[in-house]
Amino acid sequence: MLRFAQLCEAVAGTTKKLEKRKLVAEYFRAQPEQTASQAAIFLSGDIYPAFSERTLNVGGSTVWRAVQQLTGRSEQEMSEAYRRHGDLGAAAYELWSCEFSGSVLALPDLAKLLDDIATARGPAAKLERVSVLLRQCSALEAKYAIKMMVGDLRIGMRESLVEEAIAAAYDKSELAVRRANMLLGDIGETLRLAAEDRLHEASMRLFHPLGFMLAPEVKSSEEAVSYFTDAQIEDKYDGIRAQVHCGEGRVRIFSRTQDEISESFPELIPVFQDSPEALVLDGEILAWGTGTTDSKNANGSALPFSALQRRLGRKRVSDKLMREVPIVYIAFDVLFANNELTIDRPLRERSEMLTRIVSSLVETQHAASFVSCATQSSLAFDPEEIATSFPRIVRAPVAQAHTADEIDQIFMEARARGNEGLMIKNRETLYTPGRRGHAWLKMKRELATLDCVVTAVEFGNGKRAGVLSDYTFAVRGENGELMNVGKAYSGLTDAEIAEMTQWFKGHTLTDFGHSRLVEPKIVLEVAFNNIMRSDRHESGFALRFPRIVRLRPDKPPDEADTVKRVEEIYLSQHRAQ
Ligand code: AMP
Repeated sequence: MLRFAQLCEAVAGTTKKLEKRKLVAEYFRAQPEQTASQAAIFLSGDIYPAFSERTLNVGGSTVWRAVQQLTGRSEQEMSEAYRRHGDLGAAAYELWSCEFSGSVLALPDLAKLLDDIATARGPAAKLERVSVLLRQCSALEAKYAIKMMVGDLRIGMRESLVEEAIAAAYDKSELAVRRANMLLGDIGETLRLAAEDRLHEASMRLFHPLGFMLAPEVKSSEEAVSYFTDAQIEDKYDGIRAQVHCGEGRVRIFSRTQDEISESFPELIPVFQDSPEALVLDGEILAWGTGTTDSKNANGSALPFSALQRRLGRKRVSDKLMREVPIVYIAFDVLFANNELTIDRPLRERSEMLTRIVSSLVETQHAASFVSCATQSSLAFDPEEIATSFPRIVRAPVAQAHTADEIDQIFMEARARGNEGLMIKNRETLYTPGRRGHAWLKMKRELATLDCVVTAVEFGNGKRAGVLSDYTFAVRGENGELMNVGKAYSGLTDAEIAEMTQWFKGHTLTDFGHSRLVEPKIVLEVAFNNIMRSDRHESGFALRFPRIVRLRPDKPPDEADTVKRVEEIYLSQHRAQ
């Protein structure tokens, strides 16, 4: 562990990627395979390999209490140290005064102690196990053990850099390492195979999630065609990404964070259960208005994310909820079929395969009409049909475009259908999990922005630990009273944040240490993806993914937007459907 902590310290000490990679590669080579393999997982920022569904499940506050007990420091001393560093591990390093036994904690032992924390039930048991671990650490070891427990090493390593270091350490190609890791979802095992010259043995594990292909945003259709012109275009649906694995009567559905979410969507299971072949599909789960529950959606069409939200994170779903918020799976890619990993085929071919697969899934359910009536122009279903047989799987309708004008036209149609925007995909490219290249692009338009008043502020983390950079903001109620609608990390420049910090310090109403209520005088323009109903804020609404666009010093707080305006935008999202 001490060597590992020293390595982390050295890696954190340089900003040069090449240098970091060299340090890690040297460390891997010098360590026994088991230690190097464990370190590869830790350096990727995890406790367990990616494919595993285990989590440490220990809150920052538990670790905080353990540090406090072991160092015997007051809450104030702890808070001050935390604020100086913006990181509990670094704060603990400064305060550490525990008797160190001097015994050497090997990395595999550390893994075992972390596992003990994971399996402990209840906060008291967790606290006890965290203390047991930390008592065996020197100050430097504690620093990194704590960082790992709170889930953030902050040494500028990413899994992709660990992959590169493995390739360098064992003289393998980066591509081979990356591919093995993608298939296995286990960087530790990947290291082992590389060390033993067995990378070619890595194979996909059905029922364990693969990485998802990601898409950077483009601001215009002109920018999109600057990357490629033979584009396959689909609507960008506002649901949740879902990777479905099925075969031999089994079905597992994974979210973008690679967590299993099958239980939340029981009505999707039968769609895939009878699949005659093993499949891995990529797609989006959407809430779907059938016309039976909401007159605005008489034709049946996608509902905004706020509707789907009621279905998320549930272990059990009542029949009532399934009726109230029906869902569909919009399939847009295939990663495994025909006993073959299809990610190495161009999208053009995958796309044809997918069309065939979805039709055959539909046929096995004796409901050919399920997809046939979904048209690109409306992506709507015949209400009569919906009443009897609701479509659960839809192949995402596909359009093709070669020019910016064509893309703009399709974009407008997608918005009119109530979808977020477009996904623009290069027909010639392979499926590259976990990478945000330029093979897929997303194009979306922000909803209106809101001018909000800052009511509370908090110290940030990391390099923003010493400045008040997280803002809670409000809109005006009927009588001008302020009602919070969201909270965002500042999108302002460092200079603006520094200036605002001074201002907020001088205009604090109540100081809670880490956070403060402030005089409601600062107006911000805030952008967001959409608006949801929420009990969290007194306004009854919450902005989804709020982003601070700019300060509005030109606007007095009594001209900030109102709850009524928020409600109008919220309703317009529904009308757009
Ligand atoms: P964002 O969440 O804004 O980064 O946009 C990417 C997300 O859009 C993906 O992760 C999917 O969940 C979602 N999405 C919606 N429709 C599609 C589609 N047709 N193709 C790919 N991703 C889509």
